[in-house]
Amino acid sequence: MPPPLCPHCGARIPARARCCPACGSDEQTGWSEETNTGGLDLPDEEFNYEEFVQEEFGGGRVRPKGIHWFWWLTALILAILLLAMFLR
Ligand SMILES: [Zn+2]
Repeated sequence: MPPPLCPHCGARIPARARCCPACGSDEQTGWSEETNTGGLDLPDEEFNYEEFVQEEFGGGRVRPKGIHWFWWLTALILAILLLAMFLR
């Protein structure tokens, strides 16, 4: 049974909830702040940790890195080609 109020964020927790709907604390993490700081493997299917992290940290790092440098390289090559055409 969860506590009636989340000790971490103070949100009201439904009696049969396995984790806090507001901050994701659950009985396995001791209803503690550790859930927010990451590094814990949560076996709880109801709580999507990845989604939580994405929302919490803006989701900027989720993009695959390979695409990024590839397009930079393409842009650089195009710029050099244009420059070469101008200088000829
Ligand atoms: Zn909470």
